[in-house]
Amino acid sequence: MIILGSTGSIGVNALNIARKFDLGIDVLVAGNNTDLLNRQIEEFKPRFVAVANKEAAKKIKHENVYYSNEGIKETIQKSDSDLVVNSLVGFAGLEPTIESIKCGKRVALANKESLVVAGSFIDMEKITPIDSEHFGLWYLLQDKTIEKMTITASGGSFRDTPLKMIEKATVKEALSHPNWSMGKKITIDSATMTNKLFELLEAKWLFGINDLDAIIETKSIIHALIDFKDGSTTAHIANADMQLPIAYAILKKVEERILKPVDLVEIGELEFRKIDPVRYPIWEIKEEILKKPYLGAVINAANEVAISQFFEDKINFLDISKKTLKAYKKFEDFKPSSLEDIFRIDRLVREFVGKTN
Ligand code: NDP
Repeated sequence: MIILGSTGSIGVNALNIARKFDLGIDVLVAGNNTDLLNRQIEEFKPRFVAVANKEAAKKIKHENVYYSNEGIKETIQKSDSDLVVNSLVGFAGLEPTIESIKCGKRVALANKESLVVAGSFIDMEKITPIDSEHFGLWYLLQDKTIEKMTITASGGSFRDTPLKMIEKATVKEALSHPNWSMGKKITIDSATMTNKLFELLEAKWLFGINDLDAIIETKSIIHALIDFKDGSTTAHIANADMQLPIAYAILKKVEERILKPVDLVEIGELEFRKIDPVRYPIWEIKEEILKKPYLGAVINAANEVAISQFFEDKINFLDISKKTLKAYKKFEDFKPSSLEDIFRIDRLVREFVGKTN
């Protein structure tokens, strides 16, 4: 298979699954972590490698090294593998998703931003999501009438922080997730709850369901719930570990033990909370954005710029959502009729958020 983002949190787990099931790797793609990528090349011996830029490419020990977005696309075109694991982060993952589908490949998609920004232009038949909530929903599907789908949120780094302290939160505090470790961007998205908004959009495109919601479950043991018309609710329960959704997305069917089963007695109690828009201001637009899911392109671009500004200490934590909501209001009439429109609005929103306070 092809692994895009092999040095990241999901990419490393995807390689753990490759190791466990002895799967071949044809292409490895990463950004700037050349030390780890060189070690991965030595172990998995891919035919092609791509990295973010020319400087990184010079440090790679391999005879077929490509670089930049164009280089990544070239490796996808050259590879005869029919499966791409896309675990790149952010808008940068969209073009590789589109290119993979164009080349007739199936995409095991961790890069949820691809669906958030361009869900209406992506063939869902080619996508298997790598996200525990969507894996949970898929696991629960039955041939019965569904009334509602609910996904759970951990609540992120500030779920128990007194409200008045959140404004002054440092980058380090925002990156301290209570339940697990992930890449930096998704950890911030989890703290602002933007990640859950993205996952609702992802669910909408994947399952074609309109009645969608999210709640906080603080232990992250329940990942998804489905209400059926008959009044039953089923829940997907598993220990939180991305190897399970990754294994299914790659292999489709899994009979081997991937995770230790959940011990409910050991867990003892579960706690559920409503997502409060006072703590998570982005939640204000939840209902509206589910009706206008294409505005995901606006939210995503604004959020990416604002997160970079937060990492550079230019804005405080709460400004991330404030700036994103401001862009949402400014571009609320946007309705794309082509992929080109998506790239255009992405540029416009980035420019707007870069310039405004
Ligand atoms: P990471 O930041 O850990 O990894 C991102 C990967 O993308 C790294 O390998 C990085 O390379 C690579 N990359 C970044 N920019 C470029 C570029 N310009 N060219 C080539 N490679 C690049 O992120 P995660 O693994 O946490 O997340 C990846 C995606 O999966 C995100 O969309 C996230 O929302 C989603 N996801 C993550 C989950 C998790 O548990 N982590 C759960 C569910 C979904 P390098 O490090 O070498 O610079």
